[in-house]
Amino acid sequence: MKYLLETRNLSVQYGEIVALKGLSLQVGPGEAVALVGANGAGKTTLIKSIIGLLKLSGGELLFDGHDVRAVPAYHRARRGIGYSPEGRRVFPGLSVRENLEVASFATGQETCRLIDRMYAIFPALKQKERALGWTLSGGQQQMLAVCRALMSQPRLLLLDEPSLGLSPKLTDEVLWRIPEIAKSGTAVVLAEQNLTEALEVTSRAYVLRVGSIVLEGPSQELRSNPSVRNSFLGGL
Ligand code: ATP
Repeated sequence: MKYLLETRNLSVQYGEIVALKGLSLQVGPGEAVALVGANGAGKTTLIKSIIGLLKLSGGELLFDGHDVRAVPAYHRARRGIGYSPEGRRVFPGLSVRENLEVASFATGQETCRLIDRMYAIFPALKQKERALGWTLSGGQQQMLAVCRALMSQPRLLLLDEPSLGLSPKLTDEVLWRIPEIAKSGTAVVLAEQNLTEALEVTSRAYVLRVGSIVLEGPSQELRSNPSVRNSFLGGL
């Protein structure tokens, strides 16, 4: 099988600090994969190295079968790697619609079609179409941040802790759109501390602990595996 994303023995350091130690993982086209682990496990570091914001200190990184280690971040985005960062980054002074428009690489007509698709995924955004970014609730900002990443029509969408700071209800509203996004053909990598939910909305998962993968498998199996919870609490 040809993977959409593959890391082989990937390592990343911040100076002397080794944040990721030889990670090997694979994501297939249209797959939804969770990356779960406690605070500091290395989820954000992995995502930033995939999008090109951090340099690898070792190992390989392949996107669509090609080595992308030397490809700059903006070209990786053009090739189909979309990213929604931790902390719901939206333009506070732009309306919902403008936030979406500026995130598009497409022509005007195609951009309109894409925006309608975003409103179908998150109807709450349609109702707030003219509202400025800063006036939105935390949940609406998170929805908008996810849609901004989707506007580039990525083949791979990387979501960094979309549930951060959201109520359980809003977390549900955001995370439960992931299976639908994957089904439409965009593979999703979901980095989350929210273990239960992350394993419900994905089909496979990797459990990270201090920079290494300690468990991997179908999300459904990991849901009933007590070692997963222990790894969050410092076990394994
Ligand atoms: P969080 O949920 O807090 O985002 P995480 O799983 O995403 O956690 P990372 O932020 O990737 O974890 O951090 C992994 C390790 O790298 C941690 O030990 C962290 O302290 C360290 N680290 C992260 N950023 C830096 C940096 N800029 N300089 C030095 N060390 C860093």
